Amino acid sequence: MATHHPTTAVLSARHAGLVGCSRCANVSPMGTTHCPTCGSRLFSRYPRSLQLVWAWWLAGLIAYIPANLFPMLITDTITSHDASTIIGGVIELIHYEDYFVAAVVFLASVVIPIAKFVAVAYLAMMVQMRRNDQPHRLHRLYEIVEFIGRWSMIDVFVVAILTSLVQLNVIAQIHPGAAAICFAISVIATMISAMCFDPRLLFDVTEGHKND
Ligand SMILES: [Zn+2]
Repeated sequence: MATHHPTTAVLSARHAGLVGCSRCANVSPMGTTHCPTCGSRLFSRYPRSLQLVWAWWLAGLIAYIPANLFPMLITDTITSHDASTIIGGVIELIHYEDYFVAAVVFLASVVIPIAKFVAVAYLAMMVQMRRNDQPHRLHRLYEIVEFIGRWSMIDVFVVAILTSLVQLNVIAQIHPGAAAICFAISVIATMISAMCFDPRLLFDVTEGHKND
């Protein structure tokens, strides 16, 4: 099935005795410490890439737990005090028939973070187990993770927008709860985790397979 992919033609810079610059893509002889073109530090592979990926991944996962248990939004009106968690908020939005906002919040704060945890763990595990049967699929997955990373903060923005919208209403006052901080920490930690992953490690696994 995968025979039409030219996987056997993969030649990494490291294999050719070169080191690539991750900033400007220029290649220099192995052992060069700084890029002669842009001056940034050169690493054939980021040092301790996987350890850092797992450390930040775990930090993100730990922060994600209180992000779901603590209230995300605290609404105060003259007569009531209401605190809702992420899931509680989604249920409330559905109750008020705000299906679109409910879907956005659910997607941004549940589906995307969990998908990202799974995807990063899968990439790291494939490299650790030296399994890269489908290098193109793993690279595609890495690209998706990178793309999602740019939109991860969307939920924090949703909370900020909701807060400012309701703030205009003099009857109700709305504050972000403790979960908002935990969520932001979780998003930042998973973002760093994904950034620590050196996609060039996927080349090594492919080459390892070829030599087996
Ligand atoms: Zn450079």
